[in-house]
Parts: sequence; C-alpha cells; structure tokens
Amino acid sequence: MKRMCFSFCVFFFLVNLAATQEKYAVIPENPRPGEPVTICAVGGVRKAALISGGKQLSASALFFTVPPADGKPGFLAAVLTVPSTAAPGDAVIRLENETGVVHEIPLTITEREFVSETIELDVVLTGIRTEPDPQKTAEADKLWAILNRKGTVIYHDGSFKMPVTSTRRTSFFGDRRIYKYSTGRSDTSIHSGVDFGVPTGTKVNACGSGRVVLSVMRIVTGNTVVIEHLPGIYSLYYHMDKLEVKEGAFVDTGELLGFSGATGLATGPHLHWEVRINGEYADPDAFAARPILDKNAVLSKIGYYLPMRKGGDYFGAYYD
Ligand SMILES: [Zn+2]
Repeated sequence: MKRMCFSFCVFFFLVNLAATQEKYAVIPENPRPGEPVTICAVGGVRKAALISGGKQLSASALFFTVPPADGKPGFLAAVLTVPSTAAPGDAVIRLENETGVVHEIPLTITEREFVSETIELDVVLTGIRTEPDPQKTAEADKLWAILNRKGTVIYHDGSFKMPVTSTRRTSFFGDRRIYKYSTGRSDTSIHSGVDFGVPTGTKVNACGSGRVVLSVMRIVTGNTVVIEHLPGIYSLYYHMDKLEVKEGAFVDTGELLGFSGATGLATGPHLHWEVRINGEYADPDAFAARPILDKNAVLSKIGYYLPMRKGGDYFGAYYD
C-alpha cells in the first residue's frame, strides 16, 4: 500500500512536470535589439528564424548538436540575433525541418534606446570610407565568406570576458553615427561593436576560446583578428598596432591576440570589439552578461524530454 502510494505520487509528479515542460527553450524570452537569442530543442528541427510583422528580421540559424557533458544530456541549439533596428513588440521564432514549419515560439522584443554621435573625417579617412577600391571589396567579400561559414564545433560555451582590462569606452554597440566627410557631404551608419579608448600598445586578449580564422591587415579595419567560437559565432578585433596570432591557431580565453593601435579607419587609438552571429552584428556585452549555452536554464525547460545518460544526475532518480 505504502509502495503503491509512493508510485502514484511519483507518477503524479511526472505528469505535472510534463505539463509544465516544453520541448523547446528560448533564452531570453524578452530580448532587446542587438541581443543574441539561443533556441534549444529536443530534436526534429533544422533551422530557426526570427519573424515579426510577417517579415524575417535576421539571418536564419542552423541547429547544431550540444553533446552530453558532466552528467547532463545533450540537445540541439541555434543562436540568432535580434537586429539593433528591430521595433519593440511581439515576434515569433519559427522552427523548420526538411519538410517545412514545425513550430512557432512567441517572444517579445523589448524597447531599447541607442546613442547618436557625429564623427568628422579628414581627407585621408574620408578617402578610406568613400573611395571605391577593388582591394577593399575583395577584403569585404573574404570576411563575409568567413563569417557565413557553418561550422559544427563548439570551442566555447561560457560567457565572454572583456578583451582589454580598461573600462573606458568611446563608442557603444548600436550607436547611430553621422559621418561628416572632408568634402562637406555626410553619411549615416550604425556602430557594429564596442570601442575601448585604450592607448596604442595595450594588450588585446581573446574574449573566449576558439580558432583564429583571420589575422591580417585590412584597409578599413586595420590589423584585424577574427576568432570562431561556436557554429556561426565569431568575435572580431580591429585597428590593432601589432598582431601576435596566426591564422589556424587555437586560443584560450584571455590569450594575447595583439596590441591595440589606430590602423585602418580610426580617428585615434582604440580597440573595436565586435561579435557576429550568422554574419549579423550582435551586442558583445550580451555575451559577457550570460553564457550563450546556459545548460542549467535549458535543462530546467526541456530536460524532462531529453534522453538520460546512465549514471547522470539529471532526473536520474526517475529514469534509472
Ligand atoms: Zn568601433
């Protein structure tokens, strides 16, 4: 009788748990423009897209496999960006497999204000920004191809560390910029990263572990390093004085990449730090604030549906 009562209680608990659990997790559920959104699933999905007002807001994200680790089951994950230009309001994450749409998850885009700034460029910097140049185009094409590679390896799954120790910032992510050219004309753009106002020669460190996929001098961004951290997720470091890593090298969080400077299109010494997801700009601070694969948060939402590893500690008492 006692045993039956216990069994019933366990059954009742599991039924209740199943009712409150989802097969999908979206973190966070109220993202701000510029923030990354991580979508996790048990299975049966291939890609995810952010849709609002019938329009797709940013590049689709392919799901990749997060393997089991530390006694916790594995799952599928995809990461996409809410663009900095997204309007606040209701949106959905549309999940697809090979045959079409399988599910839509509602989410709310939270309002966010961005700073406006005006930057005056001299004759040389005006030329770098406005004059057509085949080499500039070739460099842009090469970077775009790298940023759109669909990798499968997870080199880093925690939060990012700041690439410099200084906290002095001269520009923020998403700043609405007006460039005033030496010709009297002007142009607008949106700042794609964070600028640290550090003197030439300041150590620049990897914000997370990964593989160096670009380490080269470029016309616009000067001495540049790009690191791949997760499938579709890259960090970029611009305007450095000197580079200390080679393409193909593996780096750990905090490892020296080079020294800051003012190479390329820069009005003074600074480090431009940027993060891209599937080619799109994302707010680097969001990656410093939380891990991109927050396994505990994911498992608290979809863990019930995931296959348990024998001997693991996650719901192990019920599955063993
Ligand atoms: Zn910048």
